[in-house]
Amino acid sequence: MDRETRLRVAIQKSGRLTDPTLELLNLCGLKLSRGKDQLFGFGENLPLDVLFVRDDDIPDLVHEDVCELGVLGLNVLEERRLEMIARGHEARFEVLRHLDFGRCRLALAVPEDFEFRGVESLRGRRIATTYPFTLARWLSERNITADIVTLSGAVEIAPRLGRADLICDLVSTGSTLQANHLREVETVLESHAVIIRTPVALSAFKADWVERLMMRVGGVEQVKGSKYIMLHAPRSALPAIRRLLPGSESPTILPLDGADDRVAIHAVCRENVFWETLESLKKAGASSLLVLPVEKMLA
Ligand code: ATP
Ligand code: ZN
Repeated sequence: MDRETRLRVAIQKSGRLTDPTLELLNLCGLKLSRGKDQLFGFGENLPLDVLFVRDDDIPDLVHEDVCELGVLGLNVLEERRLEMIARGHEARFEVLRHLDFGRCRLALAVPEDFEFRGVESLRGRRIATTYPFTLARWLSERNITADIVTLSGAVEIAPRLGRADLICDLVSTGSTLQANHLREVETVLESHAVIIRTPVALSAFKADWVERLMMRVGGVEQVKGSKYIMLHAPRSALPAIRRLLPGSESPTILPLDGADDRVAIHAVCRENVFWETLESLKKAGASSLLVLPVEKMLA
């Protein structure tokens, strides 16, 4: 593929971030055709191709400029960044955008019979994790010396196997912890998905496309939960109605034909509009209320 005229984005091949990332790219207008090996997706309508990889490979692919962009969890990025620094390398990662999916946290969890009385209880303990560098920084910030047991997976069963006293692992709902009789006690890192970019300077053409893409991503994120609301109301009720419209900036006020004291109000609401809001608007004098979904938005 032409490196001068096409952008490459690294995304997770199969996992928790795959569907929301593909949906985001799709909402940004990208149509992908995937080859037989499924590792490469060709952007049919934009100068943008997708590389499907393990999420752990994304930081290096972007750092080494194999891909200009990458979508991954902050947890993976932060761990790799700290690892590079610990090994004496320069870690030049730039986060272009924080995204509204992949929410989870890296947390410490102890077996049910572990007597946890604050971080001091961790001193000298064995902690199993796949995030040794992030955990080491968190511990050192608290002046705690503990024994970090680095595992490549199945962290949650380490205490039962006698390999560790407690664990440091990713949690979203906590059901995996519960199933393993573990109790969450401290948050080490709050995480969500982010878009990162190469540290290498981009050609004007590519830089322009990155900017356009980021504008679209911004629009997609804004649209989530946004509604377009239309209603009729007496002019005198305008101040009360404006106060009731959730998260709207300046609404459009239009005169109604043949009714001097009545107007139509159109507004984008940056929050969902619930029945309760509609009922309050009606009480304030509004009628002919209509709520529509917003498909695209460009500020
Ligand atoms: P890969 O094969 O790509 O290495 P993986 O097993 O490392 O996959 P997943 O479990 O699919 O990765 O998680 C990918 C990312 O999703 C995590 O790094 C994290 O940022 C995010 N995530 C969100 N919720 C959770 C959760 N409950 N558990 C683990 N990761 C989560
Ligand atoms: Zn992974």
